[in-house]
Amino acid sequence: MKVLSFLKRMFGFKKNTKYVKTYLNDANIKSSIYMSFIVIILEIWMIFRQSRKYIRPYWNSYDKLGYNNRFQLLFGMTGLYILFIVCALAMFMFGLFYVIKKRGRGSFITNIILGSLCILWIFVMIIEIKLPTFNSGTNINKITTILVYSSMPIFGASIVGNSLYRHFKNEDNTILSIITITSFAAVCLVFGFKVGYSDFANPWYNSKGDLNTQKIKMITCFLTMITFAGCLLIWKPYISIVMLTSIFVVFDYCLVQYGSREFIEADRINYYTFLVSLTMITISIYQQRVNEAIKDEKLIHDANFDSLVEIHNGHHFTRKIIKLYKENPDYISDKIYLFINVSNFKIINTQKGFAYGDKFLARLAKDVVASFPKDQTARLADDHFIVLTNQEGFMDRIDVLNRLVQASSDGLFIRLKVGGYRPQKEESPFRAIDKARYACGTIKSDYGTMFMEYDKELDEQFMKRQYIVNHIDDAVENGYIKAYYQPVVWSSDQTLCGAEALARWIDPVYGMIMPRDFIPVLEETRLIHKLDLAMLNDICKQMRRSIDENRPVVPVSLNLSRADFDLMNVKEELNKCIKKYNIDKSYLHVELTESGLSQNTEEFNAMINELKEDGFAIWLDDFGSGYSSLNALKDFEFDVIKIDMKFLTNFDKNERTKDILDYIIQLATRLGMRTLTEGVETREEAEFLNRIGCGRLQGFLFGKPFSLEHFEKHIHEGNLKISDHLI
Ligand code: C2E
Ligand code: MG
Ligand code: MG
Repeated sequence: MKVLSFLKRMFGFKKNTKYVKTYLNDANIKSSIYMSFIVIILEIWMIFRQSRKYIRPYWNSYDKLGYNNRFQLLFGMTGLYILFIVCALAMFMFGLFYVIKKRGRGSFITNIILGSLCILWIFVMIIEIKLPTFNSGTNINKITTILVYSSMPIFGASIVGNSLYRHFKNEDNTILSIITITSFAAVCLVFGFKVGYSDFANPWYNSKGDLNTQKIKMITCFLTMITFAGCLLIWKPYISIVMLTSIFVVFDYCLVQYGSREFIEADRINYYTFLVSLTMITISIYQQRVNEAIKDEKLIHDANFDSLVEIHNGHHFTRKIIKLYKENPDYISDKIYLFINVSNFKIINTQKGFAYGDKFLARLAKDVVASFPKDQTARLADDHFIVLTNQEGFMDRIDVLNRLVQASSDGLFIRLKVGGYRPQKEESPFRAIDKARYACGTIKSDYGTMFMEYDKELDEQFMKRQYIVNHIDDAVENGYIKAYYQPVVWSSDQTLCGAEALARWIDPVYGMIMPRDFIPVLEETRLIHKLDLAMLNDICKQMRRSIDENRPVVPVSLNLSRADFDLMNVKEELNKCIKKYNIDKSYLHVELTESGLSQNTEEFNAMINELKEDGFAIWLDDFGSGYSSLNALKDFEFDVIKIDMKFLTNFDKNERTKDILDYIIQLATRLGMRTLTEGVETREEAEFLNRIGCGRLQGFLFGKPFSLEHFEKHIHEGNLKISDHLI
């Protein structure tokens, strides 16, 4: 079986993929350009030689060569070469236009003119037949003449047909190209046969020169043309073997018929060895090209397909849309982009393992393709898919997808989230995908919503987001990022013991931008460290100035994000800054939010511990707001726990909040950590928290976040009284 398959592959019987076929065809067309160029040069040289050898010497005595007039002499001596040159030129131009993928009017007209000229050779055949030399020639001479003349129009017709197809269909046709190349190869073969044979069999020529020289000339011409044809016939080895062998056998037969028995017999082995070598060369070139094409195809496949789920990737998706848009700009006008996400996919991975997650994604990919069978679909990354579909009825298709996904959910609770965006005419697909993704992101934690379309309101948000990402460097450089300070007081006497530094972006275009607008964006885009470094610098710089100018100073807590620890060396940056401004370490606390700690790694834990050992106080922010509050307490020893302000909502109505707060404070105290409650807005809350032993308080009751000037003004005016013990 293996041998059979090997032979099938070797002789080209194995079916090739469309890509391989096109690759082979393109390679053949390229060879045809080189070959036809050589033919043109060779034939020009032949015409030159003929005119020097026969036309000039016999210009006044043409009758000696058997012609009736000078036109016949000219035509008889050079006609065939000229015709062959025109064919080669047609092939050359066609190949050139084909390879450079030019399908403009120029290429169309050139190919049609040259192809039509070749068709006209059918009339030239009639002139040739009427020449006296034709009638005096042998039968084989007559047959080969007719063969040459009839192969040329066939070739011309294929050039014309191919050009018409390419022009009107605006695409290439492999079969037509194969016919074109093969018919050109046939022209070369019969031409070689004819010129070679007639040189040999023409008794007049033979009488003029040494017979052996003529024979050598003849066989050389024949073999040259055969080699040309061999080089052109690489698309299917068995076809080239059949064509080349037939012409070899026929030529052999003709030679034997015309009396060169001894010559051929002596060299017959060499003659057929040449045929075998030539076919072996064509086979090996064919194999090489097929292998290259297969490798190429695999590379292209890998670049365009997602290896996990076997559907197109984002790279292919965007390229395809750009291409379709270029071909027809109206293509996009009734379309909508859909960004598809499984909101709780992480849970599937953690509960069922990664192998299951991968299978789930592969199934999801199939469902996406099945729900949008006529549309462009792709997997962007993770559990994110993108689709470009018609606006009409798109919601029905989303429902189909949701049903398919739910049906194959294996009892898992899967929530599909889809963001939609109707693109503008010239909008890049990258931006359109971003907008659909953005719309999808807005319903991430919105339990009952499956679909969200990008609208005007989202557009404003999105633009602001883009603005933030694009302008963070400017903002830092120009000092638009400012630290505002919110007072922190002792609960016992409500005297000031510190402040929390909260970032404000005071922008020339948008005015005051609040942290909820820029912190999540900068965290997502991994730019948050730029802001936090600016804040650190601003805090230390202002503190130094206050100390130098003998104004009151309180310890300040700085908010850091989890991502900061990946994006910079936090310990080094903190030390560098306090050293630069000569600030006491105990005047700078680090706040880390509880949600950030849920993704802790050993490396991250080590970094926190190093910070603590280095003498920085670490405060746990927003305790109780996330899923892993108690876990955070287990892994780290915080200096202060900041209890989230959510506990104070409905404080006066819900008795249970009081109990919970009481227990939290007891728990923290038992663990040796101090406490602060955020968001204190009423006297009752403050009194209660003092009673249950919460050490520090922060909230609008004591002051909003102020600019430094206002903060100092409040101290100066006595609204904020600094405590005599700050730590
Ligand atoms: P956070 O660290 O929990 O800060 C407390 C937030 O609660 C502040 O909002 C503050 O204005 C607000 N707040 C304080 N007292 C009350 C109150 O009595 N009632 C109510 N309703 N709200 C109160 P802000 O300034 O908008 O900051 C929001 C969050 O942004 C901060 O939460 C913090 O996580 C983050 N953030 C702020 N500045 C920075 C910064 O420089 N770097 C980093 N990484 N994050 C920051
Ligand atoms: Mg904070
Ligand atoms: Mg907080």
